[in-house]
Amino acid sequence: MARVTKEKPANLKKLFARARKSLVGGVNSPVRAFKSVGGTPLFVRSGSGAWIRGADEKLYVDFCLSWGPLMFGHARREIVAAAQRAIAHGSTFGAATEAEVVLAEKIKEALPSIELLRMTSSGTEAGMSAARAARAFTKKDLIIKFAGCYHGHMDSLLVAAGSGATTLGIPDSAGVPKAVAATTVVVPFNDLKAVENAFKKNKNRIAAVFVEPIPANMGVVFPHDGFLEGLRKITKREKALLVFDEVITGFRVAYGGAQTLNGIKPDLTVLGKIIGGGLPLAAYGGRKDVMSMIAPEGPAYQAGTLSGNPAAVAAGTAMLDLLKSENPYRRMEQLTEYYCEGLRGAAIAAGVPLRIQSIGSMFTPFFVDTCGEPICDYAGAMKADKKAYGRYFQAMLKGGVYLPPAQWEAAFVSFAHTDRELDFALAASLKALKSL
Ligand SMILES: *Cc1c(COP(=O)(O)O)cnc(C)c1O
Repeated sequence: MARVTKEKPANLKKLFARARKSLVGGVNSPVRAFKSVGGTPLFVRSGSGAWIRGADEKLYVDFCLSWGPLMFGHARREIVAAAQRAIAHGSTFGAATEAEVVLAEKIKEALPSIELLRMTSSGTEAGMSAARAARAFTKKDLIIKFAGCYHGHMDSLLVAAGSGATTLGIPDSAGVPKAVAATTVVVPFNDLKAVENAFKKNKNRIAAVFVEPIPANMGVVFPHDGFLEGLRKITKREKALLVFDEVITGFRVAYGGAQTLNGIKPDLTVLGKIIGGGLPLAAYGGRKDVMSMIAPEGPAYQAGTLSGNPAAVAAGTAMLDLLKSENPYRRMEQLTEYYCEGLRGAAIAAGVPLRIQSIGSMFTPFFVDTCGEPICDYAGAMKADKKAYGRYFQAMLKGGVYLPPAQWEAAFVSFAHTDRELDFALAASLKALKSL
């Protein structure tokens, strides 16, 4: 990473102690605090391509990549330039801009199931609003979600949520009214029978089924053949909406998201992460009749002072344009396969049971012996040894590799990663696994 001046390395322990005096838990999002893996959290000073520089002035190959937005790694030139250009002409207007229309058109072109959309600032907001649109349209209250799927921290979907909630052992968050949690029906992923039963038990009360079409928030898990098709069939029959949460998979597993890979048309889609190019931007959209429920067209209110923010829209547009022009998907998949194969070899050499699941440029190493069987739901994912992951994480950090600081997450490879970074991380992995 190019650097002009060398700053003084910070003492991370001291910095964390200082942070905890002003920020809850020292962080602005819980998983950053390393509760799940132990030790002192990393504070980051800068990033470039596949690398980040810690406040300790150490360099790390980054496989966390801000949890998914950074398809081209950190500070990709065109994205930085686009955001800078936009912000120089005014950072926010709270009024409509042409650039938002352009980005909306690009999103629609990528995901043909989206006829109308609305931009928000976070995936949580987008998911929450999609739930509101679904409830307003169907005039029903209940939502089915799958154990281990994460749809942001909105009240009614923070039940049996994966990701940070799992890691912290609070899948059911305090502060969520029982009456609100009771509007959510949780069923196991990949279990169509359970979905049928949930519909039977709650006749004419289910507004929508929310699903990560390829879950990444219990670690990367795959839908069985026919599972998503089954959800499509059941929801259609029951006059409930099918909502794909593609905040991670959208523009990641393919330009058009998991829905184009699987050839399934959801009624609504939730997007985030990549579409903001690393700035706060998310969206929800889908069928015109459903989205028309949202104000000002319809009676369901949803708004945002910074929604469609010019800098975020510019960064997101630059991201989508780069994804189109450079088409990095095949290369990223090859890099990820290469890395996962190397990791499998290292695990065997070290005698550590490891189940690695990957698709496209995302992967999860589960520290569990499944005898070669895939992990396909939350119960299976929970069998992984979080303590072993924590030790591995710490050894990797020491070796100059930054992974997601929790077992039940997806790690990412970017287009900026090369053989050099991957081989460096594989050497660190072999050493780390041998030390467990
Ligand atoms: C990250 C994520 C969200 C929440 O997005 P935020 O921008 O963090 O609020 C929702 N759904 C999925 C699948 C996610 O991975």
